[in-house]
Amino acid sequence: MSGGKKLSRREFLGLAGLSTLAGGITCLASALSAWLLSRPPIPSPTLPPSRPPYAKHIQRPPIVTREDWGARPPNHDAKNEHGFFSAENPEGWRVYQDDLRAIYRTVVVHHAAEYKGDDLSTVRHIQDEHIEERGWADVAYHFLVGKSGRVFEGRALNVRGTHVEGYNTGSVGVVFLGRYDREVPPSPQIEAGQQLIDWLALFLELTHLAGHFEFNPTTECPGRYLIPYLDGFALSAGLARGTGGYVPPS
Ligand SMILES: [Zn+2]
Repeated sequence: MSGGKKLSRREFLGLAGLSTLAGGITCLASALSAWLLSRPPIPSPTLPPSRPPYAKHIQRPPIVTREDWGARPPNHDAKNEHGFFSAENPEGWRVYQDDLRAIYRTVVVHHAAEYKGDDLSTVRHIQDEHIEERGWADVAYHFLVGKSGRVFEGRALNVRGTHVEGYNTGSVGVVFLGRYDREVPPSPQIEAGQQLIDWLALFLELTHLAGHFEFNPTTECPGRYLIPYLDGFALSAGLARGTGGYVPPS
């Protein structure tokens, strides 16, 4: 490359945007480009390949805590999530003992079956229904995303969810409040959900994103108006799509 046309100083400064460099820069630029072309390529640095390049800028979204929305305490007498997890009671309330990054692989997206007028009433209604009618110890999901764009804390993140039958261990549950087999999700909700998923993917070192229907084919959750967003959520968060990240519990 040493025989190539040298950039004039004016051209080089125009390209680099540096107006104060002195005249010897032309030789330096030529030597530098020859050196760059002669050495083997270096892999791109820093972030893991599956992460978007702006991952370091991802912020935890504001989250309405259980205390703030008036959650009930878990009911450990619940018939379908009774007592505490053990080898003899595999369906019991399971508090993960390991680093959550070693537990979670997949974020599973849901919609709410019904909407009760506003986000807060819907969150409370879902918890009541899951405890009293579904027989679980607490709200099934780890996070709930309102139509307003507010994100609500669900059951504790260090506790196994009950949102995706047969695949709960290692799956973080996120529900979008609304009936998305019938209506289009509003953009503040999509944006807040995206921010939440970006943050979960980074914080929990997730690998995959799936809709509920992909694990449990008898459901159409999260609905035909939300499902088209799943690919974009995964792409933004640097996740693969589908159920391939699920690891059966040992
Ligand atoms: Zn669902």
